[in-house]
Amino acid sequence: MLGPLVRYLRFMGYDTLAATELGPGGPREDSELLRLAATEGRVLLTRDRELASRGGLLVDGDDVLGQVAALFRAGLVEPVLRLDRCSRCNTLLRPARPDETAAATYLPADHASRTVVCCDTCGRLYWAGSHADRLAERLERASDRNG
Ligand SMILES: [Zn+2]
Repeated sequence: MLGPLVRYLRFMGYDTLAATELGPGGPREDSELLRLAATEGRVLLTRDRELASRGGLLVDGDDVLGQVAALFRAGLVEPVLRLDRCSRCNTLLRPARPDETAAATYLPADHASRTVVCCDTCGRLYWAGSHADRLAERLERASDRNG
């Protein structure tokens, strides 16, 4: 349910796991999620008031930028686009090789002059461009919001 927020946190460079991605055998019970968060030093974000009362942090509303703004006000995130982590799978990104950018037909034509980074796990490429600029602007506005 917090899928958009998970992607935004990764765009900002935060190591983020979603309970839905933990897979078969992964923790599903609230107590297991709380234990995993404690063991790995993670903040457990949840929409569930009961879970929040047991040690999670309640995330309100459906607007992802409002959620980012709330985490910023709580002192948990700096809303800056870092583009160093895959938004899909959480892997740290590395600079793309020329053969990878050459093979990716969806890159902008002027990609040689841009920073292009690659995810080793899912193969996705990310690049600096208008989409990234718009995302950076939205994040910047999130830090100006008062609630
Ligand atoms: Zn990936």
